[in-house]
Amino acid sequence: MHVLVLGGTTEARSLAEALHARPGLRVTSSLAGRVAAPRLPPGEVRIGGFGGADGMARWLGEHAVSAVIDATHPFAETISFNAAGAAATAHVPLLALRRPGWVPGEGDDWREVASLAEAARAVPDTGRRVFLTTGRMGLATFAHIDDAFFLVRSVDAPEPPGPPHMELLLDRGPFTLDGEREILARHRIDVLVTKDSGGAATAPKLTAAREAAVPVIVVRRPPAPGGVPVAATVAEAADWVQALSGAASG
Ligand code: NAP
Repeated sequence: MHVLVLGGTTEARSLAEALHARPGLRVTSSLAGRVAAPRLPPGEVRIGGFGGADGMARWLGEHAVSAVIDATHPFAETISFNAAGAAATAHVPLLALRRPGWVPGEGDDWREVASLAEAARAVPDTGRRVFLTTGRMGLATFAHIDDAFFLVRSVDAPEPPGPPHMELLLDRGPFTLDGEREILARHRIDVLVTKDSGGAATAPKLTAAREAAVPVIVVRRPPAPGGVPVAATVAEAADWVQALSGAASG
């Protein structure tokens, strides 16, 4: 059985590890190629776009793929819709591995917005010292804000333009609560901006913000394709593959 894991997340890597350990399974992980030095999962790895849903459908056929798991980031909207289209065209079963979104708790001061642009509009009314953790891709959306300081954390350096008053923190999760507390205090952060990525690896910033009474602008998730079964954990996704391979061999 040949399983294609659409990756770029911690969960995708863990899933590739779990599946790679199982005899009789061939696992290929697909990465977009956005990160200069990605942490590579075990098994085969392909890097770069497929050329839309049609390109992916062709790839599935040419490589005799028997199942696809879309374990991409909840904000990677295009690839998820492409996977749904490609799997339908190629008649290959598809599962989405999607971590649940974060939920505010007692003491949280969250302002939910629908987009990065809306987050940028909300910044001036919320704070002047911003911890921006939405990744390097949308930085230009904040470039016009010249009366606030931005601490921008991303895996690779963003392309300009960015806000005029900014400091770059190159790092990738998982992050610790102590580390996040220290960042908020050292930079006197008074607003955190995040996507609702979900998952444990980047959640400590939310706890640190709650403790420090720092408001959080949370960008809600984009829509996901309908009709695709969803697993919330790596174990659930691995079980889905197991059930398929059992059905194929039985
Ligand atoms: P996107 O907007 O959904 O996808 C744009 C295009 O990039 C897709 O049409 C596809 O090109 C290619 N692509 C995306 N993911 C791919 C994959 N895993 N393998 C092969 N091609 C892929 O994606 P994005 O938001 O730029 O995210 C890119 C990657 O970074 C994803 O793999 C995602 O898991 C990871 N990531 C994204 C975020 C985020 O906030 N968006 C955060 C952390 C990690 P073709 O049409 O040519 O196939």
